[in-house]
Amino acid sequence: MRDYAAVSWWLEDSGDDLTPRPALDGSLECDVAILGAGYTGLWTAYYLLKRAPGLRVVIIEREIAGFGASGRNGAWCAPDLNISLARLARLHGEDAARRVQQATYDAVEEVGRVCREEGLEAGFHQGGELIVARGPQGLPALRAAWREYERFGFADRYQLLDAGQTAERIRIAGALGGLWTPSAAVIHPGRLVRGLARLVERLGGRIFEQTEVTDYRAAPGSALLTARGEVRAPTIVLAGEAYLSRLPRLRRQLIPIYSLIVLTEPLDPARWEEIGWAGREVVASTRLSVDYLSRTADGRILFGGRGAPYRFGSPIRDEYDRHAPTHEQLRGFVRSWFPTLRDVRFTHAWGGPLGMPRDWHPTISYDPRSGIASARGYIGHGVSTANLAGRTLADLITGRNTALTELPLVNHRSPDWEPEPFRWLGVRYVQWALGRLDRIAERTGRPPSGRSLAERIADH
Ligand SMILES: Cc1cc2nc3c(=O)[nH]c(=O)nc-3n(C[C@H](O)[C@H](O)[C@H](O)COP(=O)(O)OP(=O)(O)OC[C@H]3O[C@@H](n4cnc5c(N)ncnc54)[C@H](O)[C@@H]3O)c2cc1C
Repeated sequence: MRDYAAVSWWLEDSGDDLTPRPALDGSLECDVAILGAGYTGLWTAYYLLKRAPGLRVVIIEREIAGFGASGRNGAWCAPDLNISLARLARLHGEDAARRVQQATYDAVEEVGRVCREEGLEAGFHQGGELIVARGPQGLPALRAAWREYERFGFADRYQLLDAGQTAERIRIAGALGGLWTPSAAVIHPGRLVRGLARLVERLGGRIFEQTEVTDYRAAPGSALLTARGEVRAPTIVLAGEAYLSRLPRLRRQLIPIYSLIVLTEPLDPARWEEIGWAGREVVASTRLSVDYLSRTADGRILFGGRGAPYRFGSPIRDEYDRHAPTHEQLRGFVRSWFPTLRDVRFTHAWGGPLGMPRDWHPTISYDPRSGIASARGYIGHGVSTANLAGRTLADLITGRNTALTELPLVNHRSPDWEPEPFRWLGVRYVQWALGRLDRIAERTGRPPSGRSLAERIADH
């Protein structure tokens, strides 16, 4: 059997038995059939079963619950989307943008509420979020972000910090300022996803693992199709995020972008004394090429980033979870952020694909005529967004009109990605150019202009 504990430290440390559940064994019928046992599939099942006990909900998972990004991520449960408020406002109006942002704050609270009330030991800790400027080049981005929150009426949730105030929270080399909000939490991703799977089963949901959905059929006769039988249901939910790009019909809806992570050994109290970080805030810098940090409950530093190269044709393969140059770069970042950790030991390195839509816009969709629902395209912000998606899908599927079903994420359709080789050329160019802009900004102390081709292409 495959060693699922080797997928990420989160699964290794989940405290759960990772032996796969039985595979599907012949066709069956149910009310809702879900592809994927990550947060999206599991939250959708959870809210459906809470609302309609007795509903027959079946989840089909190719590997084990939590195998995907849900069991591998950076532990940020934050009120952020990959699409900016300004862009949401341009597309859907100011009020709609405000409602989406409010929904992300509510999603963080909701994850915490369910953990408390259902006894999910998912390490939910609302320590807040801190974005730091590591050098003068980062300060304008912090101020711009603050002004954007102010414009949409959320300024009371955010505070600009100077270098001293930032250091009171966490001592990072070169940090000249920060943008802080208490509205975010850190979680234990493995415990959350594995706990959710057990919770769904307690509520009567059924999970079949080791079963790949090879295709699906719309109504009439809607079903998830597998080599081991069909799961027929009036509603099917496609909750496979990056992996959905493997289904022929969704091949160009998302591309897999690999995000990679390194993890240190637990640091001793003297080292934590030097670094601070007592609040366990989730932390990132303003770099265009994306970094993210969290402090685990047992005192390790997790450092993640998106430096791994996009591969021609959007393949997803286990070997891409590890990319030696990117992992080495991440270890270097840890030493540069925290110079006292020069000799720190790294115990784990892993990664995984996140799902990126062409327009950076997440989608939560349901078409009652075809019976097909889906939620996807969260890029690096799926922990809280998947909860929002699960509640929204449950509302849509049970035919309720609520504030959630009015959000502009609902029934959004992203354009398809370009065919290859244009996709590869474009994505690799942007990845390379953003890294270069970061290096230039760090060398000169001046922020990227925002007008370069790569920044305009990646504008979100
Ligand atoms: C390294 C990394 C770090 C990240 N860090 C953060 C973070 O700190 N904060 C944050 O908010 N977000 C983060 N994200 C993104 C976040 O983890 C995801 O957006 C979120 O977990 C997506 O949940 P999901 O259930 O939609 O997809 P997944 O968790 O990927 O689950 C999809 C499931 O579907 C299964 N599946 C796929 N195709 C099939 C098929 N054909 N048949 C059967 N089963 C199938 C897969 O095996 C998988 O288990 C990160 C992602 C990665 C990869």
